Amino acid sequence: MPLAETFDYVWSDEGPAPMPGCRVAVPFGRSRRVGLVIESAGGSDVPKDRLKAVLEPLDREPLVGGELLATLRWAADYYHHPIGEVVRHAIPGLLRKGRPSTPTAEPAWRLATAAREEARTSAGARARRQALALERLASGPATSAELRRAGVTRAVLTRLVEKGMIERLEGGSAPAGNATPAAPDRGPVSAEPPPELTPDQARVLEAIAVRAPGYAAFLLHGVTGSGKTEVFLRLISEQLAAARQTLLLVPEIGLTPQLVARLRARLGDRLAIVHSGLGDAERLDAWRRARSGEAGVVVGTRSAVFAELAAPGLVIVDEEHDLSYKQQQGFRYSARDVAVVRARRLGIPIVLASATPSLESVHNARTGRYRRLEMPSRIGAGGQPRVVLVDLNRHAARGVLSTPLVAAVERHLSAGQQVLLFLNRRGFAPVLFCPTCRDVEQCGRCDARLTVHAGRAELRCHHCGAAKPLRFGCARCGSERIAVGAGTERVTQELQALFPERRIGRLDRDATARKGALDSVLADVQSGATRILVGTQMLTKGHDFPNVTLVGVLNADQGLFGTELRSDERLAQTIVQVAGRAGRRDTPGEVLIQTHYPEHPLLARLLTHGYAAFAELALEERRRAGWPPHSHLALWRAEAAQRGAVFALLERVAAESREATESVEVLGPAPDPMERKAGRFRGRLLLRSSSRPPLHALLARLVGACRTWPESRRARWSIDVDPVDT
Ligand code: ADP
Ligand code: ZN
Ligand code: ZN
Repeated sequence: MPLAETFDYVWSDEGPAPMPGCRVAVPFGRSRRVGLVIESAGGSDVPKDRLKAVLEPLDREPLVGGELLATLRWAADYYHHPIGEVVRHAIPGLLRKGRPSTPTAEPAWRLATAAREEARTSAGARARRQALALERLASGPATSAELRRAGVTRAVLTRLVEKGMIERLEGGSAPAGNATPAAPDRGPVSAEPPPELTPDQARVLEAIAVRAPGYAAFLLHGVTGSGKTEVFLRLISEQLAAARQTLLLVPEIGLTPQLVARLRARLGDRLAIVHSGLGDAERLDAWRRARSGEAGVVVGTRSAVFAELAAPGLVIVDEEHDLSYKQQQGFRYSARDVAVVRARRLGIPIVLASATPSLESVHNARTGRYRRLEMPSRIGAGGQPRVVLVDLNRHAARGVLSTPLVAAVERHLSAGQQVLLFLNRRGFAPVLFCPTCRDVEQCGRCDARLTVHAGRAELRCHHCGAAKPLRFGCARCGSERIAVGAGTERVTQELQALFPERRIGRLDRDATARKGALDSVLADVQSGATRILVGTQMLTKGHDFPNVTLVGVLNADQGLFGTELRSDERLAQTIVQVAGRAGRRDTPGEVLIQTHYPEHPLLARLLTHGYAAFAELALEERRRAGWPPHSHLALWRAEAAQRGAVFALLERVAAESREATESVEVLGPAPDPMERKAGRFRGRLLLRSSSRPPLHALLARLVGACRTWPESRRARWSIDVDPVDT
């Protein structure tokens, strides 16, 4: 694995062929590979004498169960992506390499480091069975089952563990018994009783209970701080009590340590956590705990939607509007959409929750596909924050900090509160400009400017990662160049000059690149040590900082005139989400939004009528213009070192599409908004249709045909179904 397509093999052994979802060892070229059985067929298009035989089965039970395999096959079809690469997302790397799928009830063992030498030299002096175990383990790790077959009992293993001679692999604890979902011996670690439900929470839980069990999709639209997480905790507890598992998808694990802590405190250890930062062994361990049912809750980012579960009872997608649910390269799936499909197949309820639901989900709620649940008020006595626009045309500003904003920061700090400032741009300044020859420093490989990073004294490209030393002297004319505009680094510096006594933190990808840095930035805000936190989009993600009472949006204009389909939606979500960090307890919050366009209809609508009203208006605009969710899109992307190769392919796709059907509108081809990136040219063709079937039929046909075109060999191409960045 991975395979780009499926291959046929024969099963020449006696006995039944391995079931779909099982791994097998197969000959592939001259090597031996691990494959996954996708289908057991009666025949093959490959001539009999050219079919090779399966070497050996690797699983007795399917690694990927019937439901999950069906979901994966559906996803491969829907996203027009090779099944081999799709399946990869559901199987941990170690299993793809052939590691036994042994659940944690069947732990694996190895020699303890300290014991390795000793084991080799003095094995003869030990009891025979212990010697047997050490001998076996000296040649590599083994599972309990394998050791048992070699005559080593559990008692022997226990003795060896006590002596420190062997240790359990994959960081597990003691040998577990037969794990069942919600094993009752692992209770919650906190004795704190759950809070009494608010009427809103009780109503929402009641509405969900009425429909469950069985498939039903709910859109939980609850303002920030309305108690959505508490609703999740109750739902999960109910599932645990019924010995069923919950799959909880979250946008980014690193940004939600509080959520994980709350789950732990309430539910104890019955958690498996899945995210991209896991090592191979941790990932396998989480996979096993989910599959065996030992984990009652599987919390994870995007790829966790493909977790194999023993007894699934509920799916929750938190912050369902978050774009990180959409994979932006390779297999471009939407974990939120796959989650809905999976829940339906499993016949279990799914809850999509957000304070700023995506327009797609709002639309689905309007058409009755989702049931809408509302939690319109905050828990704390502080109520909704007061939002004020600061007109940058009328107020003096020092850098990006206007006088009213600085005054507000001062006021909140003196009252002992904390402040969050949002600016969606990292680095010191986005432009390095020569006032004499008017040159702006560009990336040599991208259509983009280089960003000034003062701390590391570098100029960096945020698109390809290229970096070079920062020099202010102009290479063309020798004049002193100036850094224009501001990123988070510069704002932090300016604030420090204004408030030299206050501790100021920064939350962006640069400040949190070091391992552990993110946790410490967040912990310092939580403890109150950091008084002002400046940050990018990372600030918007569900944090619950109790003492933040002022939120400043430094530059709302960045998003106001975006040309992409979703610019408005994204800006509205960002503003509402950052604003939601203010006044989460009993002190009322205040939000200042700096803009040059205080009359802009989007801002006006959002601030006077709220997100739901904004969403209604935006959906109406999309309907009039025929954009999703009132139509369906696929983006055909291409890239190559030559611009000509990109457009030759896209022109052909366009021509064949127009020829093939009139039900699909062909828009383009056009260059990407940033045409050259990392030295390669990029273009796109947009396909739009008022219904899905003709669009998917066309894609299926083109994907097959295009592999035979000479044009497709000179450019790399991919298909993006339901793209989010058009
Ligand atoms: P959301 O997830 O909607 O932002 P949370 O569930 O985090 O909201 O709730 C906001 C705050 O209110 C949290 O500190 C939480 O502990 C508290 N809270 C939630 N539900 C209740 C309740 N029923 N009674 C008292 N406090 C609650
Ligand atoms: Zn110059
Ligand atoms: Zn670049």
